[in-house]
Amino acid sequence: MTDRLTLSQSHLYTFRACPRRFYLRYLARVPWPEAPLGRAQELAYERGRRFHRRLERHFLGLPTTDDDEADPELRVWWDTFRGHAPPLPEGRRFVEAGLTAPIGNHFLTGRFDLLIVGDGADGQPAAHLFDWKTGDPRPLDRLRAAWQTRVYLAVLAEAGAALLPEAAAAFAPDRLHLTYWYVADPAQPRVITYDAAAHRRNWAELESIVAAIDSLLPAGAAEAWPLTDDLSECRRCAYQALTGRQAAGEAGPEAADEDEPPPDDWLEPQWG
Ligand code: SF4
Repeated sequence: MTDRLTLSQSHLYTFRACPRRFYLRYLARVPWPEAPLGRAQELAYERGRRFHRRLERHFLGLPTTDDDEADPELRVWWDTFRGHAPPLPEGRRFVEAGLTAPIGNHFLTGRFDLLIVGDGADGQPAAHLFDWKTGDPRPLDRLRAAWQTRVYLAVLAEAGAALLPEAAAAFAPDRLHLTYWYVADPAQPRVITYDAAAHRRNWAELESIVAAIDSLLPAGAAEAWPLTDDLSECRRCAYQALTGRQAAGEAGPEAADEDEPPPDDWLEPQWG
């Protein structure tokens, strides 16, 4: 029997980008070869990670201090957050909470920067997700279509009640909100809402992608996993030499996608 996979938005992103890349990276566990990123992008990832750690400590009520923070940009980000954080509703807070829902023969998972279960503006139960972003701000329509948005809202609608059974009504699709807050555009948080019809469509497509992954699993061999026809994907893929796509060339750092896994995820598969 095939293992049940625990799939995140990065896995779905990768499978849709190129099934063979998904196979090589997460099933065959071929290490991502040297230096696919420039130094500037690596630094940006590291700074983003440190910012998230600091916010996590903040929301957990743990001490944070500027004294040992040598990075001036990180200090500016922190000051920006303290001065322009989005309004947070009252309610039960979950920090860096992971949530997993069964989907087909596998699982779908999300890890939320901050979840607050309380009341909506109408006084009825509601669940509010917050996601802190340190990259370039994205427009609302692009965020709405992002894998992160789709997976987070789907998992919360399907499995949120398990986190707080006494507040199950807060996890109905039309009671969910997801706010993206960008340190580069702190006064304009992007708020995305959801509803039952959107959830039905979203869940059906997620199920079909998971079913497509599932159908390829028994084959075992790499050749069963198709190569993408999109050479722009190959340009930012470190497996070119394994799949004969060296002629695709290399992409610039601007090609990175919002849902693309950060470098450390490339080395540690998240399934099992
Ligand atoms: S180089 Fe292209 S075809 Fe090969 S694994 Fe990467 S994305 Fe897929």
